[in-house]
Amino acid sequence: MTFRALVARKSDKTISASVEAMEETELHDGDVTIAVEWSTVNYKDGLAISGAGNVIQTFPLIPGIDLAGTVEASSDPRFASGERVVVNSWGLSQTHHGGYAERARVKGDWLIKLPDTISTRHAMAIGTAGYTAMLSVLALEHGGVTPERGDVLVTGASGGVGSVAIALLSRLGYRVVASTGRPQEEGYLRALGATEVIDRATLSGPGGPLGKERWAGAIDSVGSQTLASVLAQTRCRGVVAACGLAQGVDLPATVLPFILRNVTLAGIDSVNAPPAARIEAWSRLARDLDLDKLESTVTEIGLADVPEVALAVLRGEVRGRTLVDVRR
Ligand code: NDP
Repeated sequence: MTFRALVARKSDKTISASVEAMEETELHDGDVTIAVEWSTVNYKDGLAISGAGNVIQTFPLIPGIDLAGTVEASSDPRFASGERVVVNSWGLSQTHHGGYAERARVKGDWLIKLPDTISTRHAMAIGTAGYTAMLSVLALEHGGVTPERGDVLVTGASGGVGSVAIALLSRLGYRVVASTGRPQEEGYLRALGATEVIDRATLSGPGGPLGKERWAGAIDSVGSQTLASVLAQTRCRGVVAACGLAQGVDLPATVLPFILRNVTLAGIDSVNAPPAARIEAWSRLARDLDLDKLESTVTEIGLADVPEVALAVLRGEVRGRTLVDVRR
């Protein structure tokens, strides 16, 4: 039986991706076969399809680090046909065929059953970006950052992680400050729940090792000088969740925020998060994410549109979350 898939091929160091018909026998080994309904485009998908991040390690490969759909067949007793499931990351789009296809076959260990209130479409509107935003919110909570402690900063605010983080934090009662390079998105960010919007240029250049204490907590998807500035402005006993590298992988900071203000820098790795952490994140998303706000972040595309949008994500041109209808 054939199905449609976006297939990435490499020739002379250049990656190209186009929609092809594939046979089920070409899928990689796994315990569970899934009729994929939705996928999405994350920053890492941009790195994969552009080749910039050497994400894809074997060619040809179906990219797409996320997928949601319905179990078609399973030799894993934990999953039955007809159940709605989501996969975030693991080996998808690296060594294993990913989400940009109408079919997937994966290890049962990679699957999470979706909470009843989250459809497969919602799951991919959330995607790795939204699930990472939730892991980041959990890191602030674990560090004791409550709404009474003060403002929480979200950098890369118009992006996928940033948009979902703002929606989650505002629903939980935090006063959210959004940092963006796109002043034209102020209305969008306020509708998601930001109380204040600041220009990212105020954070992205070199500053002193310690600044005025402003943030009780922060979710940073930008890294580099921005993360250094955020740390320097974080209040005593504040927590900064570092999950991204949109500005760069460097961190030109000092230890002073840690040893003089007891600031905690919490690392967020969604790819290797253990199943218990994933289940906690998805159940909290079901409880704490306003699905109407989520919908306001969504742009829907078809499979053939993915390569162009993936490159636009890397250029910082895409707002919010991009849903991929793999049947279109
Ligand atoms: P998006 O591209 O959707 O969002 C990134 C945002 O960062 C942009 O929208 C833009 O926001 C801002 N930005 C872009 N370029 C720059 C720059 N040069 N300097 C400062 N800000 C910039 O990506 P995602 O939200 O999907 O991912 C965000 C980051 O998080 C990525 O680096 C990604 O790799 C990482 N990530 C990490 C995960 C993990 O497990 N740790 C999982 C998921 C994502 P604005 O225009 O509002 O300023």
